[in-house]
Amino acid sequence: MTRESFKTDAFILRCLNYSESDLIVTFYSSEFGKLRGIAKGAKRSKKRFANVFEPFSLTKIIFSRHRPDALAFIEACEIIDHYPDIRTDLEKTLVASYFADLTDNFSPEGKVNIKVFELLQNFLLLLGKEKATEATLRFFELRLLKVTGFEPALDHCAQCKIPLTNGNAYYFYPREGGIKCFACARPERYEEPLSAGAVRTLLLGKTMDLDKIKTVSLSGALAAECREMLVSFITHLLGKEIKSMKVMEQIRRMGLP
Ligand SMILES: [Zn+2]
Repeated sequence: MTRESFKTDAFILRCLNYSESDLIVTFYSSEFGKLRGIAKGAKRSKKRFANVFEPFSLTKIIFSRHRPDALAFIEACEIIDHYPDIRTDLEKTLVASYFADLTDNFSPEGKVNIKVFELLQNFLLLLGKEKATEATLRFFELRLLKVTGFEPALDHCAQCKIPLTNGNAYYFYPREGGIKCFACARPERYEEPLSAGAVRTLLLGKTMDLDKIKTVSLSGALAAECREMLVSFITHLLGKEIKSMKVMEQIRRMGLP
């Protein structure tokens, strides 16, 4: 059976040991969406695949396969951008790894979505240039949800449909993917409200120019509210916690770098 060969730009999302010498690589490509491929002999052949399969590297991959749904056979892979400005900084590396992990979790295999590819590309460029901030994290999550079809409804109450009003308290319901005003939510005492200010910040972050993100200071209570909302939603959608996020947060809490 003949195998057709393809060439595409792709971000490495994940890399697993498969056997003594092979690797299974998950990558997000501009032309084919998320794919999984086997790199035969990658652990032995330093010449053919010299450290190219590190998470979030942008690469040019040549692969072949029998059928569109078959495991790809990675024939060659070369680095386009290794993101040295990110990799020399522990915090940025953890954030970029989280971006790759989240992209992996929200992308079904073989579904082409150039917006996902561009989002990853834009945020890695941003991360290379600027400090990793709360806003960078939250706005990436929000935009990934948007381009993958899971955008939360934040501009009005899910029940009475009244638009977001400054000064009011809201409650976010992951199962409904939206917010409710105090009157519709009738919250229990243990439920934490989401201020209109936090919701408005998230709405702005969805479309704000990339070079303006560094000017957003998301701190204290506002940061905690935004984080709680997005993390609870992501955990609900995936049905699990994201490991790379926990690792990233533990290290960031320790105040590194
Ligand atoms: Zn309402």
